[in-house]
Amino acid sequence: MSNNADLHRRRQAAITSGMSTMLPVYIERASNAELWDADGRRYIDFAGGIAVVNTGHVHPQVKAAVAEQLDAFTHTCVMITPYRVAVELAEKLNALVPGTTPKKTMFVTTGAEAVENAIKIARAHTKRPAVIAFGGGFHGRTYMAMALTGKVTPYKVGFGPFPGDVYHAPFPIAYHGIDTADSLAALEQLFKYDIEPERVAAIIVEPVLGEGGFYIAPKEFLQALRAVCDKHGIVFIADEIQTGFARTGRMFAMEHHGIEADLVTMAKSLAGGFPLAAVTGKAQIMDAPVTGGLGGTFAASPISCAAALAVIDVMQKERLPERANQIGEQVTSRLRSMQSRFSCIGDVRGLGAMIAMELVKDPSSRTPDADLTKALVQRCGANGLILLGCGVYGNVIRFLMPLTASAALIDEGMDILERSLRECCGSGEELRTKN
Ligand code: PMP
Repeated sequence: MSNNADLHRRRQAAITSGMSTMLPVYIERASNAELWDADGRRYIDFAGGIAVVNTGHVHPQVKAAVAEQLDAFTHTCVMITPYRVAVELAEKLNALVPGTTPKKTMFVTTGAEAVENAIKIARAHTKRPAVIAFGGGFHGRTYMAMALTGKVTPYKVGFGPFPGDVYHAPFPIAYHGIDTADSLAALEQLFKYDIEPERVAAIIVEPVLGEGGFYIAPKEFLQALRAVCDKHGIVFIADEIQTGFARTGRMFAMEHHGIEADLVTMAKSLAGGFPLAAVTGKAQIMDAPVTGGLGGTFAASPISCAAALAVIDVMQKERLPERANQIGEQVTSRLRSMQSRFSCIGDVRGLGAMIAMELVKDPSSRTPDADLTKALVQRCGANGLILLGCGVYGNVIRFLMPLTASAALIDEGMDILERSLRECCGSGEELRTKN
């Protein structure tokens, strides 16, 4: 029998160190929001495979849909002899993605590929080269996606040169002193110093920064970006890969903002654990590329499409957007109570169940505490709770539990977090009175 220690030794010999391992815990079984490892230990899962299992691990309806598709056929290539589940899923996404303009969809396999293709489509439509993204944004690890990503370590170190004509403006992060006006002024400066807006094909933005630290884009910021795009004929791309699929209390985070993106990228929770990504956008823009210019051998895998149709059905039937809001209230109220006792918790924020706490050396200077964040993730892991760090400054703990997790299980996880915080930074009460 392999145990965690054996598997970890073998992993280090067999898998490149270029891929990280957050916890040397080797999973054998998962159900809804719980995992069991090779040593037989149980974990509560607040990571959801990085926002992928919003419908929980091995949801019975998703499993049944996949089993049925597996019996029928597993691959023909959608570009050769297509099939019903791809058509049906495209129809569903065209109807679900916010905005009244008629939509079309393309499928690929990973989030980075969706981003790459959104840029290809925007360039084909506008016949312009440049793309603007935001500091702290994350869009993937392929070359264009990496160029768009606004964080050097670890995503870009040693991998240049990157594709040209990519520019970054600061994302509004009020907690660290950048507000909407600052970001918009920097965008105008970009148009003055670096690139004329008439050469910009697309602006790509996450409605809530994901890897960058769960900073929520203010409504007025996204509305102003929409206006800039309208003024200059720039394609507005909403990267909803992490925010999508019921996480923020709506199917898509853009629904909070009352504006329509031109293109939306999706992946992660779209197929509840099966690899699938999509770009859905205004039909006229989506049809700009030459026929055959978009696609991929595994694009729209029938297994993944069948899973995605079941995921969407589950989200609607089980009212997961509503459930995301309830989880958001439960978790943020526990976090705020901890914040009143632990001075290392500088900020607590969330949109639906896309929740974060920011760890700082002291709440008045707001100096990020990346070491404590790392230590807390490890301590929680040792205590049976899987959660993830993130953030431009590496000091944010993000909560991405399945939206199907019960209130009791979430409370159990929050108890582990509180105990782990106490173990990592001593008595919270003492710390609080020092400040
Ligand atoms: N965009 C966003 C907003 C993401 O969060 C991610 C993944 N963390 C990606 C793109 C890239 O997705 P993938 O890892 O599937 O390529």
